[in-house]
Amino acid sequence: MTRLHDPVGDFDVDRVRTDFPLLARSVHDKPLVYFDSANTAQKPRAVIEAVDRYYREFNANVARAVHQLGEEATAAYESARDKLARLLNAPSRDEIVLTSGTTQAINLVAYSWALPRLGPGDTILVTTMEHHANIVPWQLVCERTGARLKVAPIDERGELIVEKFIEALTPDVKLAAVAHVSNVLGTINPVAELARATRKRGIPLLVDGSQAAPHFAVDVRALGCDFYAMTGHKLFGPTGTGALWARREILREMPPFFGGGEMIREVRFDGTTYAEPPHRFEAGTPNIAGFVGLAAAIDYLGALDHAGVAAHEADLLAHATDALRALPGVRLIGEAAHKVPVISFLVEGAHAHDLATLLDHEGIAVRSGHHCAHPLMQFYGVPATLRASLAFYNTHAEVERFVAALARVRKLLA
Ligand code: PLP
Repeated sequence: MTRLHDPVGDFDVDRVRTDFPLLARSVHDKPLVYFDSANTAQKPRAVIEAVDRYYREFNANVARAVHQLGEEATAAYESARDKLARLLNAPSRDEIVLTSGTTQAINLVAYSWALPRLGPGDTILVTTMEHHANIVPWQLVCERTGARLKVAPIDERGELIVEKFIEALTPDVKLAAVAHVSNVLGTINPVAELARATRKRGIPLLVDGSQAAPHFAVDVRALGCDFYAMTGHKLFGPTGTGALWARREILREMPPFFGGGEMIREVRFDGTTYAEPPHRFEAGTPNIAGFVGLAAAIDYLGALDHAGVAAHEADLLAHATDALRALPGVRLIGEAAHKVPVISFLVEGAHAHDLATLLDHEGIAVRSGHHCAHPLMQFYGVPATLRASLAFYNTHAEVERFVAALARVRKLLA
């Protein structure tokens, strides 16, 4: 039964929408319905203004200038590390490596942690529902080391089969890598339960958190994982920002990934020594403006009514799911019990790209394609899906418009 109540508690979606300037625009002369937040989220004014202020008022490089601007830029940039540490409940800010996103975070673990450790006979365990960013780096490691990749299966509903994952944790497994939330199915994986199983066997667990933090609080201590990768642009922050959290003792054992400025202790032609983590992994001038913006995004999210956001997103998910189910010819892909508002589906007799194009002409932005998850598409035996991915700034009226438009455009293709 669909529940419809805007606003929920202190969470007023109409007020929140005014914080996101882009949501007020039209597309093809229709008011925009933005249902592609799992791809990248829109940015609140606070983020846009923080980036603007950085360039107008304190643009300087970080960690090298003693002048006032340099100090201001460094303080603002480093505040993102503090805020990310708090956001993830990390034990220490020094366990947060700032990266360009999840992709760089996972590659850092692949090249710096896995590559020197793995060899023939070793295995990396992933799941069927992973994004290519949590598959291909491990395949590259396997190609170079002779290790192999093993896949823990999911069921038709799009839920990880936990018993099979645990069964797959054989002594040859040197690392397990799972999505916290699937970008295609919306499934929330039981990471704490998986981490209990990996820890018992001494196997490090990497979690791809790209799609989790935009929807609920993440607590790496409570999860009990060893690596947590995330991306800023899905968290309402700028593109080219993200982080890797890893336990301090693990980071300390990892050699540098990129070499250059800012990651050294002393450079000599007869031998260079490296900075302590996290700076050891942050060579070169970073995306300073981006992290200033991400810090503002985290502050913005922190001030929202979290219970209200969760209730609103659950209502949107229930509403959209029920309405899609009621449309003839719609097949939902991913019906896990625990989901974020990310809904993949197919419409009988219509290609996903054609539908997405027609929906775009109605002002509705959804994604069509394989969503960087080829193996998951292969599991469902489809080349592509349509994906409506919602955020707290979406409304029930937008869900109604989307479903009505889908019903209309579907007839055009039938
Ligand atoms: N992992 C998942 C589950 C994702 O959804 C994405 C982005 O779509 C990524 C990894 C890659 O993130 P980024 O491109 O920001 O590095």
